[in-house]
Formats: sequence, C-alpha cells, structure tokens
Amino acid sequence: MKKRYGKGILFVISAPSGTGKTTLARKLIERIPDLQFSISYTTRSPRANERDGEDYYFVSQERFREMVERNEFLEWAEVLGNYYGTSRSFVERWTHQRIDLILDIDTQGAKKVKEKEVEAVLIYLLPPSFHCLQERLVHRGLDSDEQIQYRLAHARKDMEEAIEFHYVILNDQMEETLDTLRAIVLAERCRREKEGILRQILDQWEVEDGKNHR
Ligand code: ADP
Ligand code: 5GP
Repeated sequence: MKKRYGKGILFVISAPSGTGKTTLARKLIERIPDLQFSISYTTRSPRANERDGEDYYFVSQERFREMVERNEFLEWAEVLGNYYGTSRSFVERWTHQRIDLILDIDTQGAKKVKEKEVEAVLIYLLPPSFHCLQERLVHRGLDSDEQIQYRLAHARKDMEEAIEFHYVILNDQMEETLDTLRAIVLAERCRREKEGILRQILDQWEVEDGKNHR
C-alpha cells in the first residue's frame, strides 16, 4: 500500500530545465480550483523576478543541511550545483485540506518520491527539439551562456528517465499542453472520488426507491 498524504493528490512535473514546467504549472493553478504550487526550499540565489515564499523558500546551505538532518524533506536533491527540497510539512498542510499539489521537481526528486512509495502522479514534459529548448532558455533571459550550455548538456540524459513516469507530454503548443495537463488532473480526481461518489449515489438511490439493498 502506497503512502498517501491527506486527501490531496501529488502531481509531480519534471522536464529538462527550460522546457516550460514552471510556466505551465503556474498557468494550470490559475485555471483549476483546489490546486496549489508546492513551494520548494533551495540554496540557489533568487533571480530578479523571484520572491521568497512565492517561488521558493530561499535558505542558506547550513539551514538546508539542518532540514535534511531533521528529515524535514519528502525528497531533496542537488540540481545543477544547488540544493532543492520539498518540505514534508508544506505538503501535509495543503493535502490535509484536500488541496492537490504540483511538485515542479527534477527527475532525481521524482525518482525518490516513487521509491518512497508515496502515491503521486508522475508527469514528464518533453521539449520539441534541442534547438527549441535552446531557444526557450535564451528567450527566458534568466541564465548566462555558460548556464545555458550546462542545462542543454544535461537535457538528453534527463529525458532518458521519462519512460518511468505515468505520463509523457510533448510541450509544443502551450495551450494544447495546458489542455492535456488539465485533463490529467481532472481524470486523476475522478479516480480519487470514485468510492465516495458511488456510495453517495447508491445511498440516495435507496432513499428514493424505499428498499434496503444491503
Ligand atoms: P522550466 O521551469 O521547465 O525551466 P520555464 O517555465 O521557465 O521552464 O520556461 C522556459 C521558457 O519557455 C519561458 O520563457 C516560457 O515562457 C517558455 N515556454 C514554455 N512553454 C512554451 C511553449 N509551449 N512554447 C513556447 N515557449 C514556451
Ligand atoms: P530552477 O533553478 O531553474 O528554478 O530549477 C532547477 C531545477 O530544480 C528544475 O528542474 C526544478 O524542477 C528543480 N527543483 C525545484 N524544486 C525542487 C525540489 O524541491 N526538489 C527537486 N528534487 N528538484 C527541484
């Protein structure tokens, strides 16, 4: 039996850096109620457009290490030279209120979630091509040339992990990808609700036809 956090569903989204996962995750939560972005902890410095407590919780290496030692992370990993982790208490706080979470995490993190037998829906996004990914990284305007080369050099190896995920989606046209992601969230919610909805309809049925079927 897999470990479940509250009544919320964990949607893990991974992709090579620059594919579009953060943009898509942010747009998705605007369109679907009861869906939240999981705010990770990181030792990376904030980018110009980022705010502490909204994009990440930005912490020192020392604080991060303390959190690791206290087993406060559901998963954590070193990604592109910095540490990133998903806080167990953050996840619990939201999922216990029946809020679903999007975890924008790398493939090592996704693997750890899977290995820990935590119930989660694993989604991998693919960039359409090498050139397209390069263009997106350049266009985003947040990384130096050196960082862009580093990200591109890691993309291929990362994509080899995609087959282990439940869903693999090509992120070509943004609106189409959003439609697909929305469909996955709604379908997974139907799966979660199946027992409850069935029970509710059957109980109501009994009241209406006046017979006890049990
Ligand atoms: P990631 O979180 O995967 O590193 P981002 O969300 O920062 O990637 O997206 C990288 C860039 O690609 C952003 O400028 C974003 O607007 C753009 N982008 C995302 N999806 C698409 C798409 N389907 N078509 C074109 N550009 C996209
Ligand atoms: P960025 O620095 O571009 O925001 O993120 C770099 C990478 O770290 C991305 O692949 C992102 O998904 C990943 N990442 C962000 N938060 C976490 C986390 O909590 N855990 C793990 N394992 N990866 C994360």
